[in-house]
Amino acid sequence: RSLPVDAEEGGGPRAVPGACFARVRPSPLHNPQLVAMSLPALALLGLEAPEADPAAAEAEAALYFSGNRVPAGAEPAAHCYCGHQFGSFAGQLGDGAAMYLGEVLGPRGERWEIQLKGAGITPFSRSVEVKEITVKIPDMVLVFQMCPEQVLCLPVALEVLGTQADGRKVLRSSIREFLCSEAMFHLGIPTTRAGTCVTSDSKVIRDIFYDGNPKKERCTVVLRIASTFIRFGSFEIFKPPDEYTGRKGPSVNRNDIRIQMLDYVISTFYPEIQEAYSDNSVQRNAAFFKEITRRTARLVAEWQCVGFCHGVLNTDNMSIVGLTIDYGPFGFMDRYDPEHVCNGSDNTGRYAYNKQPEICKWNLGKLAEALVPELPLEISELILEEEYDAEFEKHYLQKMRKKLGLIQLELEEDSKLVSELLETMHLTGGDFTNIFYLLSSFSVDTDSSKFEDFLEELTSQCASVEELKVAFKPQMDPRQLSMMLMLAQSNPQLFALIGTKANINKELERIDQFSKLQQLTAADLLSRNKKHWKEWLEKYRVRLQKEIESVGDADAWNTDRVKVMNSNNPKYILRNYIAQNAIEAAENGDFSEVRNVLKLLEHPFQEAEDFREVKEGAEEEGATAAAAA
Ligand code: AMP
Ligand code: MG
Ligand code: MG
Repeated sequence: RSLPVDAEEGGGPRAVPGACFARVRPSPLHNPQLVAMSLPALALLGLEAPEADPAAAEAEAALYFSGNRVPAGAEPAAHCYCGHQFGSFAGQLGDGAAMYLGEVLGPRGERWEIQLKGAGITPFSRSVEVKEITVKIPDMVLVFQMCPEQVLCLPVALEVLGTQADGRKVLRSSIREFLCSEAMFHLGIPTTRAGTCVTSDSKVIRDIFYDGNPKKERCTVVLRIASTFIRFGSFEIFKPPDEYTGRKGPSVNRNDIRIQMLDYVISTFYPEIQEAYSDNSVQRNAAFFKEITRRTARLVAEWQCVGFCHGVLNTDNMSIVGLTIDYGPFGFMDRYDPEHVCNGSDNTGRYAYNKQPEICKWNLGKLAEALVPELPLEISELILEEEYDAEFEKHYLQKMRKKLGLIQLELEEDSKLVSELLETMHLTGGDFTNIFYLLSSFSVDTDSSKFEDFLEELTSQCASVEELKVAFKPQMDPRQLSMMLMLAQSNPQLFALIGTKANINKELERIDQFSKLQQLTAADLLSRNKKHWKEWLEKYRVRLQKEIESVGDADAWNTDRVKVMNSNNPKYILRNYIAQNAIEAAENGDFSEVRNVLKLLEHPFQEAEDFREVKEGAEEEGATAAAAA
């Protein structure tokens, strides 16, 4: 397929009249080195495991996937898009960091877009106001050029000349994106993929640390693979330029290009819809919007069920085909906290774990606005209201039933059982992943010593008193709280209306929990946690009994239950500290940890031992086969 026309010559680096792509060239890196590669991801492109000369293959991968050599037939291009960032329209903001190499036809005929993220500057790289700063140190006058963020860090910024807008990425962000993309895939969650992570001896400065040493970090490139990287924000570029300040989208043929892009998206990624409604474009567009609404709802439900927090759910980070896209400050929850925020710059908790479902719905609303007039808002808003919540809840509950091993019956009470489980985890500071994982070994029979052992194991996955105190620390100024409580009494309607009621209730709950925690010893905590867990487990047992009563063969049911649970409750997720260890080793030149973590994440549902057995078994079989040959 041919790309839309280039950015017009002479339009300045960021003006893109008549286009939303610009041709670019990757900027070469010094001495590229392969950190790791994902063979299953590369297999999508028809690339196979290097056998004869692995070192040469690694060098070749590093050469091509750093961007130092552009593959024959590639037409590198950057795509410019807009987005709502943290709730406000931010105009044109991407893509200053990733470039397409083009499209690859996979061995099974599927089409894959491939991108290099971090391969250098594009016409859409964030604007940087470079300021000149004069620093006077006794006997010396130094003049520096700095961008505003760096000026803020002036006391230690003496060496800083780099910018944030160089289209480069560093090892830590690249390793996180590389590992998590693949981890999500192996968890069965729709995602963009990562084929390679290539670092280099070229350096950039990102953060300035207050030890006085600006840290030089290695420029690193991730090869990303997806059916498409088009986002909700890709459609927001077609807003009339007077609706936003800053960089503008195409200034000519705006409507034509929007229609072209919508036609392209629907006919390429939703061919059934294109076919079914080829003679009625409004109906076609409505069917497409309904489908992306449902996919998005299911995607968020999947995130919630593994405790994944995306961290930056701006509209430009929402895939038009329902993939998880853009791994930045994401995090998997350790201890369950519904208000967990993984993005350090998200001060209001807009992208907290429990906000993800409503935020993604809001983002779909912004997509709907961007599709006007191809799809009238009355139609899309109705679709959103009718489909989103219902699809989310259905998918969430179905997944949670599997996680709890409720494979036989679908009862209305199940949703309460799930929320009570989460409440118990919250109250006891239970580890989300480990507790779900443990539940498959809960036995329904009432042997009390087994039950005690199980309780012991569950509570060993809960937080200490000190950790809980941090989790339940009151957050409001007591005077502010008492004023709000007075208001609540004098004018309850207004109070409910301004939406503070929930916050106050949460704060009161925190104060209550916090004061209870004050006097607790470790032994008290253990018995308190056991009491909470016992209560929930009794309910779980009653529910499991109902399953058993409805089946003929309880043993066969239990085997199935455990199987379903173990393939829905991962043993391995990419915890922050695991990523951090791998990053630190890689920064010291040792890439083995990244590779080991990747291997583990490729089998998230297996015990390490099982995995080794499977692998050794396979190797033995291979050896026997070779001997026979
Ligand atoms: P994100 O906040 O990760 O979704 O990034 C949004 C946009 O910021 C990207 O599409 C880029 O246009 C821009 N951006 C991020 N990092 C860089 C960088 N190192 N150089 C230039 N632009 C960047
Ligand atoms: Mg992004
Ligand atoms: Mg990002």
